[in-house]
Amino acid sequence: MNLQTVCTAKQPSERPQSYAVAITENPANAPASSSTRQKRAVARHTNFWAPGRVLRIAFLNGEPPFKEAVKTAASQWLPYINLTFDFVEGEQGDIRIASEPGAYWSLIGTNALLVEEGPTMLLSPDLRMPAFFAANVMHEFGHALGAEHEHLHPQANIPWNRKAVYRAHGVDEDAEEGDYTRNMVDERYFNLLNSSEVDHSPYDPKSIMHYAIRQEWTEGDFKIDLNLVLSEKDKAFMSKAYPRQNAI
Ligand SMILES: [Zn+2]
Repeated sequence: MNLQTVCTAKQPSERPQSYAVAITENPANAPASSSTRQKRAVARHTNFWAPGRVLRIAFLNGEPPFKEAVKTAASQWLPYINLTFDFVEGEQGDIRIASEPGAYWSLIGTNALLVEEGPTMLLSPDLRMPAFFAANVMHEFGHALGAEHEHLHPQANIPWNRKAVYRAHGVDEDAEEGDYTRNMVDERYFNLLNSSEVDHSPYDPKSIMHYAIRQEWTEGDFKIDLNLVLSEKDKAFMSKAYPRQNAI
């Protein structure tokens, strides 16, 4: 994994619209309102598709081996979720995949419905390292199914060497808080999700939704290698989001 292929999950810029499409698709996306400890303003809805649904997934471009490898890797989620993937050619799909060298990116869950045309997911077609490719596809599909980045979990305790991360991204050490690139780095690595924004399962460094963490970007000898398979928590998280009827 190199820096250029790090995934950038996209958050909705229009939160009211994100809420509207999420609730219309799946009423279970409504934020839990029972907690008195958390102010409603910080509670956030989820973006899961309706359980039981057929998800139409269109390839906008790409060669046959790429498409086959995407289907195989993405389908590793299927035993744990109550959804059907229908892979199609052409421009019509709930999720639309573009093959683009060096890019890994996806909208989160039902936010894909906010985009009327063009890709909702980018995947780099580099198949030279099949295990890495499959891991990246599973990661992006995790986003497309509604999962956030695990290294931003409220309990993530990564001993970042922030200066090293800033330096690697060309951010001046004394960059102000409003600096665009610094903000981007903060969003990507350091700004943890609010505890009201995530499922209450514990932080899982083995999650497919976790970035690989370079040792030179942390204090001490901490590092996390790229996770290549779905973790037990990944499976449990998605099983809960997409329950089968007899499991409700
Ligand atoms: Zn990601």
